[in-house]
Amino acid sequence: MLNKQCPDKIDWTDWTWNPISGCLHGCDYCYMNRMEKRFPGINKPAFHFDRIDKFLRSKKVKPGEKIFVGSSGDMWGEWVLDEWISAVLDVVELTPEFTYQFLTKNPDGYADWEFFQNCWIGTTVDGTSRTENNLSTLVRSVPKQFIRFVSFEPLIKNPSINESVFQELDWIIIGADSTRGAKKTPNTWAEFIIDMAREFSIPIWVKDNYQYYDVIKEFPKTKAVNP
Ligand code: SF4
Repeated sequence: MLNKQCPDKIDWTDWTWNPISGCLHGCDYCYMNRMEKRFPGINKPAFHFDRIDKFLRSKKVKPGEKIFVGSSGDMWGEWVLDEWISAVLDVVELTPEFTYQFLTKNPDGYADWEFFQNCWIGTTVDGTSRTENNLSTLVRSVPKQFIRFVSFEPLIKNPSINESVFQELDWIIIGADSTRGAKKTPNTWAEFIIDMAREFSIPIWVKDNYQYYDVIKEFPKTKAVNP
């Protein structure tokens, strides 16, 4: 499905699109896992060929707009079939006028793929030990000619960050745990990341759900094709 985003949803993109859905990572804070309890099977990994076809025929997305691919699952999970990913990357190649944003908790999954210049490639770091290597894996798996980013959302622990790897990034997103009943994420955690990003001139996007005292919404600069 192709969904238009607005400020109270995922405000760092224009559209979400889920030709591959489902996820087996099993995060406690997962919205899709909660949905699974109400609608059994909804979070089961699946490829939706009809959504590829519909997307290519749709005239909804305008040149220059951003599409976050995989908001309801992890299309780079180890369980995802190569032919599913291949079908999505074919669309990305066919439509250089759009920007595609990918995000995963399994950045190893990027290693064997060739990307295109209209891709922004990211990983999630939530501060737990489970995601502590994601940043370095992303930088190792994706060549620096692409925009590489980290989404610190939901930030559920103060992350420990390796500065020398962090400075290789092109964009930072910071967001809170918006699960019902979750405690307010301390501003000091965001400050720590923001200070480091400022030191290396990395653009930052802080989501409203963090309730940070400052509004920071910056996008990365497009990278040259042959840096
Ligand atoms: S990685 Fe994302 S989609 Fe998968 S279980 Fe965790 S929160 Fe849910």
